[in-house]
Amino acid sequence: MSEKYDVAIIGGGVVGSAIARELSRYDLRVTVLERAADVSRGTSGKNSGVVHTGINVPFGSVKAKFNVAGARMFEKYCADLDVPFKRVGKVIVALGETEIPDLDVLKAKGEANEVPDLEIIDRATLKKMEPNIEGASALNVPTAAIACPYSLTIALAESAAAGGVDIKLNSPVTEINGTQGAFEIETPNETISAGLIVNSAGLGSDKIARMVGVHRWRVWPCRGEYVILDKRVGGLINSMVYPVPPKGGAGLGIHITPTTDGNILLGPSADYTNDGDDVRTTAKIRRQLLNEASEFLPELTPRDVITAYSGMRPKLVTAKEGGFGDFVVEEVEEAPGVMQLVGIESPGLTAAPAIAEHVSEWVRKRIPASANSGFQETWSAVHRTREDTLSKIDTMIAEDPDYGEIVCRCEMVTKTEIVDAINNELDATSLNAIKYRSRATMGRCQGGFCGPRIVDLLIESGKSPESITLNGGDSWLFLGTTEDLRAQAKTRRASQKMGAK
Ligand SMILES: Cc1cc2nc3c(=O)[nH]c(=O)nc-3n(C[C@H](O)[C@H](O)[C@H](O)COP(=O)(O)OP(=O)(O)OC[C@H]3O[C@@H](n4cnc5c(N)ncnc54)[C@H](O)[C@@H]3O)c2cc1C
Repeated sequence: MSEKYDVAIIGGGVVGSAIARELSRYDLRVTVLERAADVSRGTSGKNSGVVHTGINVPFGSVKAKFNVAGARMFEKYCADLDVPFKRVGKVIVALGETEIPDLDVLKAKGEANEVPDLEIIDRATLKKMEPNIEGASALNVPTAAIACPYSLTIALAESAAAGGVDIKLNSPVTEINGTQGAFEIETPNETISAGLIVNSAGLGSDKIARMVGVHRWRVWPCRGEYVILDKRVGGLINSMVYPVPPKGGAGLGIHITPTTDGNILLGPSADYTNDGDDVRTTAKIRRQLLNEASEFLPELTPRDVITAYSGMRPKLVTAKEGGFGDFVVEEVEEAPGVMQLVGIESPGLTAAPAIAEHVSEWVRKRIPASANSGFQETWSAVHRTREDTLSKIDTMIAEDPDYGEIVCRCEMVTKTEIVDAINNELDATSLNAIKYRSRATMGRCQGGFCGPRIVDLLIESGKSPESITLNGGDSWLFLGTTEDLRAQAKTRRASQKMGAK
């Protein structure tokens, strides 16, 4: 017997998770099918974390509609879900005089999308705002903001789960049969029945579309590499610093972006690739990022870099075509009952709250539903002791001594926070699941000190060492005991000797 749902959402990125939370307001049976071992492991966990205002999107596009609406919803959204959000503003900097006319074009685009308070500023004003930044002029965008993208996605999914949504991790969708009202969705674990489907599979959304007979789209993965700078240099900028976007480029250019935790990101690059899972980082791009960012911020040095990551854009235009496609947010005639969300590249994070509201209306027109009393109006998962005052920390330790054990020294994450992260609502227990819920291992030492202690705490929570993974799947941390490995090596050597004879 297959499990029956009103709605199956395919993909646990920020878009699928936002839709899940929105639908959890209603008395509906909803599931999220996510192929990875946790939510937010795709593009949603690996971007710039910028809440875009609408300055870069063409007026009248689907992108503009959801970008502008999403940006207006974002601050309250993050407040309700206890997700870090800061309205730091953005300056788009013309390095030389020749780029200054481009700022006027961007300002006009932003004004068409009703972005407030845009202002062209001269070199002196830019210097006052950003003493370390070089530039001839800039467009000041004071309403631009940053948020923590993976914390948001996790909070959306966990609050939805607490509100009754079934989030099924490690559940890649491989086949879809049936029609509206009676879809049968196959994963390696089970068959799911659903009346409606939401295709929010990001890089895999064209494949899901093909499973329901829609062959219109092809998603082209385009990798964007970043480096992360140490918090020590976090004070070099006050707001986001963007270049004038390269003409026909696949991204907005290499920008210098503060994170809500006090680091700085440099990136992203833009390189088309054949493999959407190929999220490697390279020394070549690291150098390019540092070189390009140094034109604006000459004080940068390679030793400020603590690590690197990359995100993958799900583009609907080829490298040759260049530029950007529009978002697809529609139910198409070949597949009634399926909401297709395809090509949700930047600013998809910003747009997610508005897309979720739109999809929720689409569902409720087809399946009328009353309010769900279990809806989680607010959500707060793992506490952030690092943001507390000393006297508050003293009080917390008096009540719970585990707040006094600092597990991750770089990011100041306590034992209680790690334990709360382990006991998360989605039962995601890889090392990365703990990392993205608590920030442990994200500092300068990248887990050198706290990694083993987190493993201890996972074992104390009942996990066997052999089942602990970095990121789910077969990314096991332990291959056996030293004794087992010695015995295996001995057997291998013996059989090699036999072979040699
Ligand atoms: C370099 C870069 C920088 C960006 N910067 C910004 C920014 O600053 N601001 C902004 O607003 N936007 C930004 N974006 C865009 C934003 O990150 C994305 O638009 C957004 O994360 C898309 O979310 P999603 O849920 O659609 O996709 P994803 O996060 O990719 O989620 C899709 C999920 O579907 C799952 N999946 C795929 N196939 C299957 C299957 N067959 N079965 C089950 N599950 C499946 C995947 O594992 C994945 O978890 C950036 C993107 C990139 C790449």
